[in-house]
Amino acid sequence: MNKEQFPQWNLKRAKEFYNISIWSEGYYDINEVGHIIACPDSMTKIDLMDVKDELIKQGISLPVLIRFPQILNARLKELSDAFENAALNCNYAIDHIPFYPIKVNQQKTVLEHILTSDVSSIGLEVGSKTELLAALSLLNYSDGLLVCNGYKDRAYVRLALYAHMMGIQVYIVIENLSEIDLIQKECSDLEIEPLLGVRVRLSSMASGNWQNSGGKHAKFGLDANDLVKLLKRLNASNCVHWLSVLHFHMGSQISDLTDIKLGLSEAMRVYHELYAQDFSISCIDVGGGLAVDYSSLQDTSYFSKAYSLKDYAQIIIKTVGDYCENNKLPLPKIFTENGRAITAHHAVLITNVIEQDGADEHEAVSDKSVECSITQTLKEQIKSNKTINEKELASYHKQINQQFIVGEIGLNQRAHLEELLQKCASDLKVTAKYYANFSLFQSMPDTWGLDQIFPIVPLNRLNEEPQVPARIHDLTCDSDGQVSLYAYDHQLKPNLQLHVLREGEQYLLGFFMLGAYQEILGDIHNLFGDTHAVNVEKLDQDELLFTNFEIGDCVNELLTRVHISESDVLAKCKAKLNEMKTENEVQDTVLNEIKNALFGYTYLDSMNRPAHRIKD
Ligand code: PLP
Repeated sequence: MNKEQFPQWNLKRAKEFYNISIWSEGYYDINEVGHIIACPDSMTKIDLMDVKDELIKQGISLPVLIRFPQILNARLKELSDAFENAALNCNYAIDHIPFYPIKVNQQKTVLEHILTSDVSSIGLEVGSKTELLAALSLLNYSDGLLVCNGYKDRAYVRLALYAHMMGIQVYIVIENLSEIDLIQKECSDLEIEPLLGVRVRLSSMASGNWQNSGGKHAKFGLDANDLVKLLKRLNASNCVHWLSVLHFHMGSQISDLTDIKLGLSEAMRVYHELYAQDFSISCIDVGGGLAVDYSSLQDTSYFSKAYSLKDYAQIIIKTVGDYCENNKLPLPKIFTENGRAITAHHAVLITNVIEQDGADEHEAVSDKSVECSITQTLKEQIKSNKTINEKELASYHKQINQQFIVGEIGLNQRAHLEELLQKCASDLKVTAKYYANFSLFQSMPDTWGLDQIFPIVPLNRLNEEPQVPARIHDLTCDSDGQVSLYAYDHQLKPNLQLHVLREGEQYLLGFFMLGAYQEILGDIHNLFGDTHAVNVEKLDQDELLFTNFEIGDCVNELLTRVHISESDVLAKCKAKLNEMKTENEVQDTVLNEIKNALFGYTYLDSMNRPAHRIKD
């Protein structure tokens, strides 16, 4: 074996092997005992195995979504500092205000931490009436900032105008031409002058999975023709001064910075044209799109990025500043609506592997007494120490199956042949199946919907070399409930290298970077519900602080979602037990167990405790 090709296993190698330095941006690491730690700031290190142990002690079973609110704060601060430094470096007095797009993660605890972060001025971006009401429950009415995107009906416009009346600085962004009539009518009824933005449909396009198509086929924004019409209407009704924000959004997870520069250059031309027509736009909203490196490939592929957060801020400030300087235009403020880059890192799902299949020697169970032609061939192979390749393995499997189908061999013989075959193929790294206690559809739906890659790393035993090429399967009865693409060792592979499970010892996995979009897109396939979730921080004396416990859905809640009630189940069972004339004691036992199951966690729960009574 070549040592350079297979470097010696140690903690440094483990960190490199699972690409931790790249995807984690410094927020996760490995400690000296080979456990994954979270590093929300330079002073704090939180061992995820300690978190798990403490949660189990408190009666919270796996899977659990762990949130590190300090990471949200750190990401926001990084973004804000990057814009401040870029403005200083480029010598342009351009202010930046981040607006957090709440669609990315609307959980109250996430919004609260974002609004109380160390960044002095931060707003929210909403895209529907419901999101607007969520924002109204949390924004400060004396200095809150709000961007209202999305298609609007009268109720949406009214809510936005009431928020304006109550002191929030609300920018209502026109997404299509018809909205201006609605806004003008409601403003005239309420005698209010609003702050308006206009979303323009750029022709410049970014590549990727979530990009808005440009030009005629784009879903959002006004094209040149509609923009001219809008400007005319505002002019005709003496409302030119209402328009203060020029908005565009090229899409999410833009992996190539040149795409962002191209879109912004096109937007600057629009800014110039508006200025020439006496529209004094004071803010340019560049939307979201700042990418994170899920795959650690550090390139322009869909799940990666080829730039840093600093590069992102620098290119925006420089493009805007240079254009304004060259064309003698006033410098606008920059609004950003980055969500993924703020929230992705802060949440990790931790869970246990419940079973492995194909990673260890099969227990010898078969009847060796009956010989057949294949038995002989395989025995000779083993005797002469010959191994078989993948093609031969597949061909033997086919032959065995054919003999089984026509009845030439029985079940015991088949098991014996498969044992022999496994011995002959011992040099082949066959992918093992690792069954984990989670639902892919609920906790990482983009893996299913978009083949998205998320970093997955064992939480412990990282001081031991992982020897098993494995594929992770979830609990759902669906063949799609498996992760089929993994990023590690600087490559994409169809399996992930994991450790052999040990008898009596839990093997834990962390599914990282789940903080953006996954929670809200999650779906209840097979009626697996929300997992437990908790915020974790560390106090000065190394003590873990758990806050905002959100107890996961219990079985009964999931049944209610499909309009089946607890009483439907109990009444039906009770009637049948009565009909069978079951003894009272037995009836009570059966009905109590059914009740317990109705109030239990939807995931595998060795503690078998009612999900909702854990904290009692
Ligand atoms: N702003 C708008 C209008 C969006 O549609 C989106 C999402 O696609 C965002 C902001 C957030 O984008 P990201 O999460 O990539 O930053």
